[in-house]
Amino acid sequence: MICKIYGKTRLSVSAVGFGGMRFDVSRGDEDNAKLLHYAFDRGINYFDTAPGYCEDHSEDIFGLALSKMKSQREKFYVSTKGMPEDHDTAAKAVAAVEKSLSRLKCDYLDFYHVWCIRRAEQYELAMRPGGQYEGLLRCKEKGLIRHIVISSHLRGPEIVRIIQNREFEGILLGVNILNFLYRWQGVEAAHQAGMGVVAMNPLAGGVIPKNEKQLAFLADPGETPTEAAIRFCVSCPQITVTLVGFTTREHIDAVCRVADAAKAFSQKDIQRIRRHITKNMNQLCTGCGYCMGRCPKDIPVASFMQYYNAKVLTGKTDVEMAKELDFQKKWGVLADRRADAKDCVQCGRCEMACTQHLDIMRRLETIAQWEGAE
Ligand code: SF4
Ligand code: SF4
Repeated sequence: MICKIYGKTRLSVSAVGFGGMRFDVSRGDEDNAKLLHYAFDRGINYFDTAPGYCEDHSEDIFGLALSKMKSQREKFYVSTKGMPEDHDTAAKAVAAVEKSLSRLKCDYLDFYHVWCIRRAEQYELAMRPGGQYEGLLRCKEKGLIRHIVISSHLRGPEIVRIIQNREFEGILLGVNILNFLYRWQGVEAAHQAGMGVVAMNPLAGGVIPKNEKQLAFLADPGETPTEAAIRFCVSCPQITVTLVGFTTREHIDAVCRVADAAKAFSQKDIQRIRRHITKNMNQLCTGCGYCMGRCPKDIPVASFMQYYNAKVLTGKTDVEMAKELDFQKKWGVLADRRADAKDCVQCGRCEMACTQHLDIMRRLETIAQWEGAE
């Protein structure tokens, strides 16, 4: 496993991180805990979890595994998270850290994320005097946390603003081979600022493995699109850790194999992918962002169209799309929206700007029906 330096912390972390959000809970915590040991033996030393993952089993599974790795504590890094809304005072933030430490059976956490910042107000809440960030600073002084970091679904310019404030040593972002055109501004800014950059969702929420035939253009000869997607994140110099949610040993083996041989994408490769996404996949939103800032109702058109990509690529049913919409509004690309699809007044400005000439207004009408079905 190749390692990379996590920003200014200078820690050497594995290029692939263990994401604790995909355990098969039916197997039992003990069995799942063995996956962490297996990954550690394969050279993975970055372990990321959060309260609530996997029906709230994940931190306990980590605790079972990490308690047996204590003698090697300096050789791996543990990351977890807390949301500003749940811990809106410094005291609550300290209590959350202490609870995670107890569940994870650790004396300290290497990385603690101000979690899931979807709107600027959530960031302001975390940073206000007496708020979560102040509590985390106290934990850091006491040696309970080594590095305070942030996880965000904000778009490029908003992330750049947070990065410029230099309160965090690293950032966790949803970036992958399909949405990088849209997400790159934040990645680049964080890297330039000397932050560690952790990529979540490298397989676009399963869109890539489920649509390998349509996405064959992502891959080199002899490679699958899924392998190309992992290789893309792992080989980007701007991305420090690529988080993969593991369910089986076979997953770990497959991803380690790709990472070990990860050849960087050349500018020519990137241009090829950009061209294909733009020309051959002309029903897909490429995330170029040209429609942004034009909507009089403040509808996040690009985010809605990114979500609609799943319909184009997989032909999901209306029921499946409604379910996916609910998820995206809570946790994904639509979490920071200020308006819904039903708020569209059909002014046409977004369609005028769309580089893909997407029928955005018709799509929003369809999405509004799914909104009604949520
Ligand atoms: S057509 Fe709808 S989504 Fe597009 S800019 Fe106008 S109001 Fe916004
Ligand atoms: S302009 Fe079109 S392709 Fe580009 S982000 Fe907006 S909806 Fe997507």
